[in-house]
This record gives sequence, C-alpha cells and structure tokens, in this order.
Amino acid sequence: MGTIADYTGGLILESIRKALHYFDSSEGVLTHDEKGQRLHKNINEFEPLVLSFDQAGEYIREAKSLAIGERVCRVLHPEAGSTESVFLNELAVAMVANGHAKIASIEEAEECLRKSTGHPLISSKVSGEYLEICRSYPPDCVYWRAEKRGLHCLQRKDHAL
Ligand code: SF4
Repeated sequence: MGTIADYTGGLILESIRKALHYFDSSEGVLTHDEKGQRLHKNINEFEPLVLSFDQAGEYIREAKSLAIGERVCRVLHPEAGSTESVFLNELAVAMVANGHAKIASIEEAEECLRKSTGHPLISSKVSGEYLEICRSYPPDCVYWRAEKRGLHCLQRKDHAL
C-alpha cells in the first residue's frame, strides 16, 4: 500500500513512472502477463474509487485538514493539461510541509474540484485511508491506463465494499 512517506519522499512518483513506462513499452491486454499481474496487485492496493462531486464533498467536509496541489503525476508530463488534487488529513499536512500543496478551506477545496469537470474524480487510499482526491487526467493516469489494458482497478464508490 502507498504511504504518506511515499508521497512526500517521491516513491509514489517513481512507481507511477515505472507503471506508465510498462504500459508504453508493451501492447495489448495484460491480464495474463506476469509483470502486468504484479502491477495490477500494486495498483489495487490503493483501492481507487471513482467519486461523484457530492461524494468528494463529503470527504472534504469530514476532513480535519485540507490542502490543494497539482496532481502528483503531472511532473512526469509537464506538457499535459493541469489539474489539481485535494489532499486530506495527515497527507494534507505532509504535502504542505514539503512544499507540494497549500493549505485550503472547505470552500477552496470544493472550488478546486469544481474546476476541470471533464476529468473524473478519483480517490486513493494512502496509509490505510482515503486521503487523496484527484481530478484525474486519463491519458496519463495509471488507473485509467490500467483499465484500458484489462487490469480492472476502478470502482464506483456506491459499489465499493
Ligand atoms: S491522474 Fe491518476 S495517476 Fe495521476 S495523480 Fe491523479 S489519480 Fe494519480
């Protein structure tokens, strides 16, 4: 599972980079591919959920701390369109402390997610809790890229366990 330290220490970015490189350097469905299966297992540990705006708002209103920052993977594709993420609780505090996000109010966090409406909202579990809500960028998103290669990982919140 990804941890807060992985986000602040850069390991998460390295994992995304490696996953995207594998998608770029391989072809077809990866469900029976050994490396694809390992990748699938790693991705599923984040238990990614596709959220509606209202569901994201519930997470935001219940959070003890909030921060806004550029989506983590954009640094790998600086030419791609910009979207932002909202970080919650301990991840918010940690991302602000290392300069990757700025503290936000409930209204600012909701406003941030209201932008870029063509980009699905995805929440990832970090250190055992849903602490990141990203306005995902499907062409570069490890989850959407995995889905396209047959590695099902995204659930709708309503259907989650
Ligand atoms: S676009 Fe996808 S891979 Fe990139 S930070 Fe958002 S959820 Fe993670």
